[in-house]
Order: sequence, then structure tokens, then C-alpha cells
Amino acid sequence: MVNFLIFGPPGSGKGTQSVRLAEKFNLLHLSTGDMLRAEIKAGTELGKKMSLIMSKGELVPDEVVIEMIANKIDSSKGSAGFLFDGFPRTVAQTVSLEKMLNDRGMKIDQMLVLDVDHDELVKRLIARAELSGRPDDKDPAVIENRIDVYKEKTEPIINYCNNKGLYQPVNGMGTIDDIFKRLCDHMKKLL
Ligand code: ADP
Repeated sequence: MVNFLIFGPPGSGKGTQSVRLAEKFNLLHLSTGDMLRAEIKAGTELGKKMSLIMSKGELVPDEVVIEMIANKIDSSKGSAGFLFDGFPRTVAQTVSLEKMLNDRGMKIDQMLVLDVDHDELVKRLIARAELSGRPDDKDPAVIENRIDVYKEKTEPIINYCNNKGLYQPVNGMGTIDDIFKRLCDHMKKLL
């Protein structure tokens, strides 16, 4: 198993690229954002509790996403590895993920970080709001808060992973195909 983190601020294209990468390399795409939105859509108690936090652009509690990921890891079979998208989002989540993987004879093999200019991020998120219907993309103040939360709570993971030799920056500007090719070139070296 080869396990990747796809990383970057909101609007950096993690979700779009992950779907394509997972298909190309037979990886299991695990997006905590998608899992949480599925809970909301299904009207579960958990979904109801999380939707207010998400609509403000804040992070849901670490334990919630850690449990979701642990369940998925344990029920998955037959893929070449995992592609974690939008998880981990705090250093504490990263430490938990490492432990979860280590306990099962695996590790994080690489962190691919999409670098995108701030103005481009905001532009993409506003454009996405039209299509996705995601409430957290509709309000510019919520978009800015998500980017601030990323900088404060999520970006420190880059340093943490860099110290372990896992950090791989990738230019996230340009067309979807260009960015896909750049990501593939890095992943092919490990797969
Ligand atoms: P984005 O496109 O903003 O990166 P995601 O779909 O990954 O969005 O996440 C949407 C929202 O779901 C986040 O703003 C946050 O409220 C919640 N969320 C998703 N993943 C996590 C996580 N790993 N930890 C905490 N909150 C999360």
C-alpha cells in the first residue's frame, strides 16, 4: 500500500484532482468533507451537529473525523493505497493518522501540497458555489475564514511532514489537466 495526503487550502483543487488520481492509480479516495456532507444529507444526528460548524467554516472536532477515517481504513480492501483529501487538517489529526497506519503496518508515504495564489482561491470558490450548492462557498466571509483556519490550524502540518521528508510541493495554478499531470509525475515515482 502506498498512501498519499493531498493537501492545500480550500479551493486548491484537492477534491477535483483526487477523484481523477484515485481512478488512475486505483487508490481509495477518502475525503472527510464528502463524508461529513453525506452525514448532513442523510439527516443523521452527527450531521445535524456538524452542519453549523461547517457552515461557519470552522473545523469539526478531531475525534469526529478520526473515527470516520478509522472506520473506512478498516473496511477497505483491494486498493493500491489511500488518498487522503481534506484530512488531516490539524497536527493532532496527523499524529492520529500516523498511529492508525503504523498499527496496521502502513505509513504516510508522501504529502502533495497544491500551491495556489490567494486571489485565485477566492475566485475558484465563488465560481464553485454556483455549481455545488455548498453553503460554505456562498459567503465571502466564510471563504476568508476557511482560508484563515487553514493557515492557522492546517498549514503547520507542512512543517511537521517536511521534517519527516514527506513534503512535496506542486504548482496548483493552471488548467486541471496541467495540474493532474504534475501530480501524476510525482505519484508515479512511488507507485
Ligand atoms: P474545502 O474545499 O473547503 O477544503 P472540504 O470539503 O475538505 O472543503 O471540507 C469542508 C468543511 O468540512 C471544512 O470547512 C470543515 O468544516 C469540515 N471538515 C472537513 N474535513 C475536516 C477535518 N479533517 N477536520 C475538521 N473539519 C473538517
